[in-house]
Amino acid sequence: DNDPRIEGIASSIRVVPNFPKPGIMFKDITTLLLDPKAFKNTVDLFIERYTGKGIDVVAGVEARGFIFGPPIALAIGAKFIPLRKPRKLPGAVISEKYVLEYGTDCLEMHIGAIQPGERALVVDDLVATGGTLCAAINLLERSGAEVVECACVIELPELKVHSIHIVYSLFS
Ligand code: AMP
Repeated sequence: DNDPRIEGIASSIRVVPNFPKPGIMFKDITTLLLDPKAFKNTVDLFIERYTGKGIDVVAGVEARGFIFGPPIALAIGAKFIPLRKPRKLPGAVISEKYVLEYGTDCLEMHIGAIQPGERALVVDDLVATGGTLCAAINLLERSGAEVVECACVIELPELKVHSIHIVYSLFS
């Protein structure tokens, strides 16, 4: 939308061509984190959107969903669940594989972290094809949660493969 804070957030993100491989324009949010005003505005915009929406759980996608997710969870009074890459979580997990440009990857969540019927928000820094968010949604729904929305800072609409109707991004 037209919130005046979004321009400052967008301009704080560094674009690194050909990282991690040729042809990729990498959106580097570490430069956003160096700008306390842009970082706070980012988190505030999400907090304003999700306060009072009855959200029980914020699920953050490894790794950059671990940066934006927890401050949102604390502010809206929700629990935080890390969705991790394989073999990182020590307890019993459920897993969801997803397809990447080359090969596959997987997200895992601790069994018992979420209760059936809980309302969940998924957080990551960026949505490209949507494959990662699809896997996150599947993990939560398989556990009986209701996924209310997926919140990202950035959306790359030209790369969209999975059309997820519950994605919210600050800008594209
Ligand atoms: P996708 O599953 O294709 O939607 O990719 C989203 C995931 O890959 C997110 O966790 C992003 O952090 C990461 N990602 C994909 N493309 C980029 C990019 N151009 N710049 C930064 N991160 C990216």
